[in-house]
Amino acid sequence: MSLTSPLIPITAVADTKASVIAALKTVFKPDKGFVDGQWRAAASGATFDNIAPRDGTLTNQISAFDGADVDGAVMSARAAFEDGCWNGMAPKAKKKILHKLADLMAEHAENLALLEALDTGKPIRDARAVDIPLAINSVRYYAEALDKIYGEVAPSPDTRLSYAVHEPLGVIGAIVPWNFPLHMAMWKVAPALAMGNSIVLKPAENSSMTALYTAALAIEAGLPAGVFNVIPGYGHIAGEALARHMEVDMIAFTGSGPVGRRLMVASAESNLKRVSLELGGKSPQIVFADCPDLDAAAQNAAWGVFYNQGQVCTSASRLLVEEGIRDEFVAKVMAVAKSIRVGDPYDPDTQFGAMVSERQMNTALDYIAKGQAGGGQVLMGGGRVQSDTGGFYVEPTLIDNITPDNILAREEVFGPVLSVLTFKDEAEAFRIANDTIYGLASGVWTADIGRAMRSAKALKAGLVWINGWDACDITLPFGGFKQSGFGRDRSLHALYKYADFKSVSISF
Ligand code: NAD
Repeated sequence: MSLTSPLIPITAVADTKASVIAALKTVFKPDKGFVDGQWRAAASGATFDNIAPRDGTLTNQISAFDGADVDGAVMSARAAFEDGCWNGMAPKAKKKILHKLADLMAEHAENLALLEALDTGKPIRDARAVDIPLAINSVRYYAEALDKIYGEVAPSPDTRLSYAVHEPLGVIGAIVPWNFPLHMAMWKVAPALAMGNSIVLKPAENSSMTALYTAALAIEAGLPAGVFNVIPGYGHIAGEALARHMEVDMIAFTGSGPVGRRLMVASAESNLKRVSLELGGKSPQIVFADCPDLDAAAQNAAWGVFYNQGQVCTSASRLLVEEGIRDEFVAKVMAVAKSIRVGDPYDPDTQFGAMVSERQMNTALDYIAKGQAGGGQVLMGGGRVQSDTGGFYVEPTLIDNITPDNILAREEVFGPVLSVLTFKDEAEAFRIANDTIYGLASGVWTADIGRAMRSAKALKAGLVWINGWDACDITLPFGGFKQSGFGRDRSLHALYKYADFKSVSISF
């Protein structure tokens, strides 16, 4: 069996639940790691259960890599880097291969979308319309960027030429979460490859399959073996081994704060590898009484937190509403939330599916209970639904009377829970918005240009969206202030994150 023979693109897009289920039976489901251009089982034979959130059933058992397996992957990436097979390739040739990878991902988009819905429980419509196209877009963006990387010539005396060039770091360890598995992976893999690095990618246990599938496509695209490796396994074993490996030059991470802290310790206790962290938040969306379009704001308030079942690092989980429009606005948000079609992720009409795991579902339900104990009043939702399916579904939940000290105003739920807070004036809005350890995203609705400018300045967050939640794309840097992390994904800044400057002086 050749390496890529299982990768057969599905050309007909399934447009009913039954045809999605039928297509899922045929799609290739990777269950081994991908190292040095080959599928590779864990040497110990260990596996972990991969559970489908839609119904709680076992999809497959995936190889659980341990330290020895991770070492093999890292050394393969190191050998490929030192060999220069990718790094030393002409920019034009590298660009062609990355574009070919994007073409293949597009050809296999339906397969990838099916795998993403299977692994995460997200609606197939979102996997098709958002996750996979955006992952492909990252590859194309950085493919286009890679032959536009220039160095600098420094002012020098006549007897010397001094210049600085960008050099790839070497081996990049990328550790990614399960909420947008391939999309988040490609935010890191694409710029790191475009800069000439080799990669070892550790997907989350819940969602390994699209990363593995894409690594095999990369070989088909012409990427040399060893340049892009994927190591499935547990975070505390495979992830930790990657973070502590002496031959890894950088860890690029998206996930939780506690793991982010561990990665910094691992760096300090190993080779001082670079670390970049994207760690989520408790993002506020502020609606002033002079909001230019309350209906649009209500759409954004609801979808800003309920999209992807609330499992989004930029989730607009705190709604701050000015007192005078509070009742009217909350009613509008509720109307939008009630119109959301909750259901089976495989039904192409479903807008809101399952949470990624039983654990994540229970975390959300626990937060809802604690928020109520702290004085919160559930206006809608609040419970598990569709439990007869065996899946992990929590309904869109709106909780009122949240005071700034309530747990639902302070801690990240990573679930479909919108907390409503009120404020009297601009100063109080900014104070409440910034009263958090996080600083990832923030949003403001106002018709007053002066207030918009003041908000952009006052909000302590890496992302500020005025009159449109998440209205941006790959061209804009993405990342947080404060305990939301540091380092940026997206844009050309992400490309340069994976490089060092080398300064050269030639005297003559
Ligand atoms: P996590 O941080 O534990 O997992 C993210 C990734 O890190 C996974 O690939 C995991 O295997 C890996 N990992 C876990 N422990 C590790 C370790 N010791 N060393 C190296 N890698 C390790 O996140 P989770 O448990 O899947 O989710 C828990 C919480 O994290 C969520 O409730 C949410 O608050 C947050 N989260 C944030 C994001 C985000 O986009 N910022 C994404 C997912 C989860």
